[in-house]
Amino acid sequence: MSTHSITVAGVAVDTRHFIGGERVASTETFTDVSPIDGSTLGEISRGTAMEAAAAVAAAKAAFPGWAATPRAERARILHAIADGVDKRLEELAIVETTDNGALLRSHRRGVMPRVAHNFRFFADWLLTLEHEDFDTRGHTNHVSWDPAGPCVLITPWNAPLMLATWKIAPALAAGNTVILKPAEWTPLTASLLADIATEAGLPAGVLNVVQGYGSEIGDALTSHPDVRRISFTGSVPTAQHIAASAAANLTPLSLELGGKSPLLVFADADLDLAVDLAVEQYDNAGQVCLAATRILVEESIAEEFTRRFVEKAQQLKQGDPRDEATDIGPNIHPRQLEKIDGFVQRALAAGARAVIGGHRNEGQYYAPTLLTDVAQDSEIVQEEVFGPVLTLQTFTTEQEAVRLANGTRFGLAATVATGDRARAERVTAQLVAGTVWVNCFFVRDLQAPFGGSRQSGVGREGGTWSFDFYCDLKNTVTAP
Ligand code: NAD
Repeated sequence: MSTHSITVAGVAVDTRHFIGGERVASTETFTDVSPIDGSTLGEISRGTAMEAAAAVAAAKAAFPGWAATPRAERARILHAIADGVDKRLEELAIVETTDNGALLRSHRRGVMPRVAHNFRFFADWLLTLEHEDFDTRGHTNHVSWDPAGPCVLITPWNAPLMLATWKIAPALAAGNTVILKPAEWTPLTASLLADIATEAGLPAGVLNVVQGYGSEIGDALTSHPDVRRISFTGSVPTAQHIAASAAANLTPLSLELGGKSPLLVFADADLDLAVDLAVEQYDNAGQVCLAATRILVEESIAEEFTRRFVEKAQQLKQGDPRDEATDIGPNIHPRQLEKIDGFVQRALAAGARAVIGGHRNEGQYYAPTLLTDVAQDSEIVQEEVFGPVLTLQTFTTEQEAVRLANGTRFGLAATVATGDRARAERVTAQLVAGTVWVNCFFVRDLQAPFGGSRQSGVGREGGTWSFDFYCDLKNTVTAP
């Protein structure tokens, strides 16, 4: 076996970059570790400014050809990539689970089918985009969706391939070329996607995948003058850094960032549903940007809600994410676990009470935690923990509920549980959030705008909004 290939759960994964249709190794590497048991998976090429420049050059060289490829042909190739994902679904699922520790059953049944859907959806949506024409005093305005050029896409580790393809698919559909840099904690499925894209007939240089640290190759990519778009999903501090790099070249940015979303539970809600919605927030060990980590409950039902919540949460099975029966897997990295526990211990020291959890479990696992007696201005209520840690606060009026819900610097999502339609309309109209769910959670349609308000993001992607971002819209005015 080549020194540039590792075998993960029986699947061979190339550990090099993929640039201009070729595999390229760096002299330096970084170590990829599985959060399931801390085992070393292998050494991955650690890119530098040199590989960043090579990848941007490859994307720039491939751009004119791909941009000129007829829409129907681009769509056909994206469908072929989706078929390739379906064909290798089992391999992608087990490699992703080994790399990031999320549940194998979710990867099999939810995430990887969605990866394929990302490609099919944006391929089909491309074909619906109109080249609009309208008239001004006899002159014709022709509005076209022109591809923008090389796009840098930078993604986090919590849903690696799903979040990467949510960007790659519309960027490629629009006629752009792409340089993807996955998170250094989860480099593997992006490499498999490069193989799948090649097999599907995507021309060399149209999709490039580079590996390495954000502060090294990531920085070099986002400050490169030939890059025409940067789409980033990750944390607020990194986004601030990237925005500063992009400012030098005025590169357009799309930023999908963190959250501290509320779940508002009114006394008129279906309580079983509300409890289910609350317990669902432990999914992916709490490593979900959209998670409603602040539970706000109307005081008159708080005791009953908490009792039922505890009963249900205690049934969750924590353990190996490859096991079908497991509900909560490990957290991604010892550093992340440290961070989660730091938040919880500081909250407890400040007077919070752990209704459940409040501590680490053996290995890289954190006990599902619910904290009460927390002040609105406390760190635990204001900051994103990104672990299985929820807070519970109570309210007595609708106005107070809205004030608490909107009382952070974030605005990614919100969930409202109520049996009263009129109340739902009143409350949702006042919430500051990119997505609001009423009596449901995580129902996502790719044609809907997705993004965050306030510090949860800049811009929206999804359906036509993705093409707005990934295209240079051009109006051509022709005299009669
Ligand atoms: P992160 O910001 O640490 O890293 C994200 C990516 O940015 C990684 O690929 C990293 O290598 C890269 N990066 C780091 N420094 C960089 C730099 N200087 N230049 C260029 N790239 C750089 O975030 P994370 O810890 O990987 O992810 C968790 C965060 O992502 C949470 O805040 C979560 O809420 C957020 N998130 C948001 C969404 C959303 O859609 N809004 C979805 C998932 C995750």
